[in-house]
Amino acid sequence: MKDINDISKKKLERKAFRLIHDAGGEGILQSEMRKILGVRSREGSRIAIKLLKRGSIERLKELHESRWTYRLFFTKKPATIDSIMNCPCMACDDIYKCTPGRFISPINCPRLTDWINEGTEKDKIKKIRISVH
Ligand code: SF4
Repeated sequence: MKDINDISKKKLERKAFRLIHDAGGEGILQSEMRKILGVRSREGSRIAIKLLKRGSIERLKELHESRWTYRLFFTKKPATIDSIMNCPCMACDDIYKCTPGRFISPINCPRLTDWINEGTEKDKIKKIRISVH
């Protein structure tokens, strides 16, 4: 077992995050993850809880070889080009003048605000439809 003092916690969390991400829809057992990371059970739990609190992963309790463990799943989806296709900034004449703290700024841009709000409304409608079916 590696000594946790020898390895940066951040590095371990990033590695764990990558393992869970790469496991895809199957997820990965917490016990398997900690073995790959080479850390003790307690440290494996700490990492899983940290990622869980960040909302980066989900975990489901699972009986594996007569022992309870958790299966960890990646929850965050990477941004796609589709998600910014209609962003007003893509075709904005002011894009090179637009800077936070200046007169033209994304902080107070009505077009950007409308676009964000529109996306939020669409997400809400999708969620309502999903919960109705
Ligand atoms: S935030 Fe507004 S002003 Fe700035 S680039 Fe986007 S659309 Fe243009």
